[in-house]
Amino acid sequence: MISEHLFFTFLYIWIALAIITFPVLLRITVPYGRHATNTWGATADNRLGWFLMEAPVVIVFSWFFFTGAAPKTIPVFIFYGLFMLHYANRIFVFPFRMKTSGKRIPWSIIMLAVFFNFLNGFFNGYWFGTLSPVYHISWLYDPRFICGLILFLIGMYINISSDNKLFNLRKGGKTGYYIPQGGLFKYISSPNLFGEIIEWIGWAMMGWCLPGFSFAIWTMANLIPRALDHHRWYHRRFTNYPKDRKAVIPKLL
Ligand code: NDP
Repeated sequence: MISEHLFFTFLYIWIALAIITFPVLLRITVPYGRHATNTWGATADNRLGWFLMEAPVVIVFSWFFFTGAAPKTIPVFIFYGLFMLHYANRIFVFPFRMKTSGKRIPWSIIMLAVFFNFLNGFFNGYWFGTLSPVYHISWLYDPRFICGLILFLIGMYINISSDNKLFNLRKGGKTGYYIPQGGLFKYISSPNLFGEIIEWIGWAMMGWCLPGFSFAIWTMANLIPRALDHHRWYHRRFTNYPKDRKAVIPKLL
């Protein structure tokens, strides 16, 4: 059993690491998807890579969640269920819908993502499984839960519908890259990443706890730099790229 004091000490270090990672990722472009290069060592098949990167979080979160003695009330099962819903899509649907003929992903990135997912699964699973206070049924009427749930569902809709728009660009056996149109693509280059950020902010609000917010902070630290990379890439690639489209936050960034 890990004491609450030790747990929070590690959690603060984990959050500090996210804050340090953010400026680092603003300076380097992580080479997968459109930014793929062969400079980060040996590579794996893209679909396999996505599966291996994301699957550990489900196992680790579930293990710590179900083996802990904290009361598993309906609100806690809702946090668990929504987390799993997101990852069911990310692990079993998203990689198999990608039109990714022959693309590869470096093993070094897969290992970094496994490391991240292991710790994220631990912090949230151990919190909700063992350390968290009791979330009584009345928590379902708390404004933080209700606003968080609404944000989560909106974010998930934006994330999945934007990923779908991207997949449709390669319909009919097309390959290569095209300028996405419609939906939030009218305002930003990466609504799928924007949606994912909204999702995890919502999930953190629903549980109103530091482990949940640590995930939201990590998601921003990972995805804002990636969205800025995507945005710069679009401008280099397409001379007719819409000038007023922002990168990841409508009207702002
Ligand atoms: P991208 O938007 O780069 O790519 C998503 C898919 O669409 C890929 O199959 C890509 O192909 C294809 N695609 C993208 N743009 C175009 C285009 N203009 N024309 C044709 N096809 C296109 O997403 P990411 O790889 O950055 O992220 C994928 C998902 O994973 C997102 O939903 C994101 O939110 C999530 N994610 C979450 C993280 C987290 O920390 N929670 C971290 C990283 C990702 P190709 O692969 O060939 O480029």
